[in-house]
Amino acid sequence: MRREQAEGLKEMEDKVEKLVIIGSGPAGLTAAIYGCRADLDPLVFMGTKYGGQLMLTSEVENFPGFPDPVLGPDLISKMRSQAERLGARLLQEDVVKVNFRTYPFEVYTDSGATKALAVILATGANPRRLNLSSEMRLMGRGVSNCAVCDGFFFKGKKLAVVGGGDSAMEEATFLTKFASQVQVIHRRDELRASAAMKDEAFANPKISFVWDTVVTDVIGDSKVRGVKVKNLKTGNESELPLDGVFVAIGYDPNTEIFRGQLEIDPKGYVATRNGTESSVPGVFVAGDVHDFRYRQAITAAADGCKALLDAEKFIKRKLEMKVAS
Ligand code: NAP
Repeated sequence: MRREQAEGLKEMEDKVEKLVIIGSGPAGLTAAIYGCRADLDPLVFMGTKYGGQLMLTSEVENFPGFPDPVLGPDLISKMRSQAERLGARLLQEDVVKVNFRTYPFEVYTDSGATKALAVILATGANPRRLNLSSEMRLMGRGVSNCAVCDGFFFKGKKLAVVGGGDSAMEEATFLTKFASQVQVIHRRDELRASAAMKDEAFANPKISFVWDTVVTDVIGDSKVRGVKVKNLKTGNESELPLDGVFVAIGYDPNTEIFRGQLEIDPKGYVATRNGTESSVPGVFVAGDVHDFRYRQAITAAADGCKALLDAEKFIKRKLEMKVAS
């Protein structure tokens, strides 16, 4: 234990939360549900735009327990109601600053500071966008960021994947299970993806590549009919008829407020060890804010559960120390 933590415990005021959770996607809300069941009376800072990526997802067909498709926002709403029913305190406030160098930890919103014995970070990651208005308008209507979630809806269809990294190769390869053809549209003539993923994509007869090209517009009224593209070397503009576009140009993890407070890996994600532990004992991590590999609602939820179980043990040790001192 850090010296500051021991000193901080001695001075502990009555109003110290046992557990603060930052984030309200499946990871944060699952941690809240388990936190209530563990009698930790969790306080959740949901963010003003609560709910995470599921709020921008239409039908979810792969979340266990829902035999019929459930809309992403409805799934979040059910998780939220479940957490509230069990007693979680959910505040629709943005965390603007944290101090993990002091103990108890401090979490700041515009309403002030909250002290906590343990904190779970579940702030998620945002998929990068092409920043086209048509992309957002047709999101869930043929534009997607998740092949595992939506690929199933494109049996026998013509698709494009935008990007040249591992995500794009993974998405393109996965989509060939369903699609009749997948065109990878990349802005350069060389892929960023790892050799193994590149080789797999090059060897797949359903995948073709459109090099040096950017998407300038997504065409379609109520669903995608194609994309407008521009070749960056020749300047030529053309249209590709398509049924769907998967944008796989990377993710930006929401770690800005944690910089300088704990270890962030070179990709910008919170670095973890032993499952859900961050570099600061007592600060745990769940979901896409550290997981760039799986990125599923169900894996984030599972992560929230794991982070809570680890936080619970940590808090129990702290409370036992306080009683003994
Ligand atoms: P990434 O490596 O950052 O690749 C993003 C790709 O999108 C790049 O090819 C980039 O082009 C392109 N791009 C970025 N912004 C664009 C824009 N505005 N318009 C058009 N194209 C744009 O992201 P990622 O593929 O998501 O991978 C992130 C990390 O996760 C990597 O370290 C990767 O290895 C890892 N990952 C691992 C797995 C796995 O192990 N199964 C799966 C997925 C990802 P340029 O190349 O020209 O920059």
